[in-house]
Amino acid sequence: MVKESSNQFKKYIEKKVRETIRKYSLFTKKDKIAVAVSGGKDSTVCLYLLKKLGYDVEGITIDAVIGNYTKKNLENLKKVCKDLDIKLHVISFREEFGMSLCYIKSLLKGKGYDYSSCMICGVLKRYLLNKYSRKLKFDCLATGHNLDDEAQAFLMNVLRNDFKLAQRQGAMPGVAISKKFTKRVKPLYLIKEEEVERFSKLMKFPVNYGICPCSIDAYRRQYINFLNAFEKKHPSVKYNIIKFHETMKNNLKKQKNLKVSNCKVCKEPSSKELCKTCTIFKILATAKKECKTC
Ligand code: SF4
Repeated sequence: MVKESSNQFKKYIEKKVRETIRKYSLFTKKDKIAVAVSGGKDSTVCLYLLKKLGYDVEGITIDAVIGNYTKKNLENLKKVCKDLDIKLHVISFREEFGMSLCYIKSLLKGKGYDYSSCMICGVLKRYLLNKYSRKLKFDCLATGHNLDDEAQAFLMNVLRNDFKLAQRQGAMPGVAISKKFTKRVKPLYLIKEEEVERFSKLMKFPVNYGICPCSIDAYRRQYINFLNAFEKKHPSVKYNIIKFHETMKNNLKKQKNLKVSNCKVCKEPSSKELCKTCTIFKILATAKKECKTC
């Protein structure tokens, strides 16, 4: 078997991203695209590829203030964006909410809500990304989610019997309608995590390949480990999950669109009267304003 050269591999990834954008009609060259970047390999590869393919992109990052981890990520991001001549928008938990992720988690715990860091971080980051993509007038928000992320998420939704969430997944997720939602897109949807990592290493991107210190308690990690072990024995399991999901979606002919109203407090889109972010801060409203650890 002829070994694939580095250049062939890079071209193959570029082609796959081009095909994904076309197949799912993600965006066009007229669109202004925000790429949600974290300083990790996936979002950095996504940012690079969209720029390389000639799209109008800018980076947007949310700093959850996780000590040296986010400090280093931010440094890397600034370097990547400078090298690629891409504008970077930095939004910080500290400036937006007046506290770090660690502090929010500890306050919630003190109130009897033992949420994982990733759960809180995910809710707050999605909230800020949507809010700022809209404010900065982007047509869509691209994330670095890859095929592994999608397969894990689908499996999680199946095992939690969350049909609505499973239904909303995809290269262009979400069936909810609200003018306040910026369209989300996943250009790396059909690319495996190991391929993204190989690409990133070939490009020598200054990214953090380690895991976030706050992700230790992540429920999702169990799915990552399970699927990786399963894929080792049965290659293409992850791809089959994605194919299954696509078939399921295509067969749901009369998919009703979910109506979304606005949160009564912050006026951001929410399926409930009070959005998840305001729910968290409602709990925190009566908490002490000083963290003893950070
Ligand atoms: S791993 Fe979890 S806590 Fe860390 S940045 Fe990602 S979502 Fe936030």
